[in-house]
Amino acid sequence: MSIPTKVVRRPELTFWDRLYLPQVLAGLWVTSRHFFFNLFFHILHRFGLFKWIRAAVTFQYPEEQRPLVPRSRTRHRLTKRDDGSPRCVACMMCETVCPATCITITAEEHPDPNVEKRPKSFVIDLGKCVYCGFCVEACPEDAIRMDTQILDIAAYSREAMVLDMPELLNPRSARIVSSK
Ligand code: SF4
Ligand code: SF4
Repeated sequence: MSIPTKVVRRPELTFWDRLYLPQVLAGLWVTSRHFFFNLFFHILHRFGLFKWIRAAVTFQYPEEQRPLVPRSRTRHRLTKRDDGSPRCVACMMCETVCPATCITITAEEHPDPNVEKRPKSFVIDLGKCVYCGFCVEACPEDAIRMDTQILDIAAYSREAMVLDMPELLNPRSARIVSSK
């Protein structure tokens, strides 16, 4: 069975298209229009005028960070019990479900006989993580979340992209943005 095909001819460039100048000028016009519009209204806003007309706002990232919607998936953290210990019971569900195989957990016996296990070490390699959130979905204990609102995952080495358990329990230490 032959598959019907449609031949689309590439349109020939006109004289004005070959000049490129009209397109360059059109681009400059669009940029200048936005620039002067924003400049004009930001000056008026300074004097309390025309506040209902919005002008573009630039966030001075990374010093100034735009608020994220609460459901954004950001860097992981391990939640804690009231005594400060991890809620994780080392069931390995997150490690098993992770499509990037970037979670590595070593389990040990919990001193409390009512709790079977706890993680001896819990490591996430953010260099491999695809931020799918499957680990959060799979956890039966609500022990892992991706709600830190920390987006920066830049580092100078692959080793610095690996988060260990102290880092996951206290994610604001932001070790990953260090120059290691
Ligand atoms: S977000 Fe996805 S890829 Fe990243 S650790 Fe969780 S399950 Fe693995
Ligand atoms: S799924 Fe939850 S309880 Fe199980 S090992 Fe992962 S973080 Fe711990």
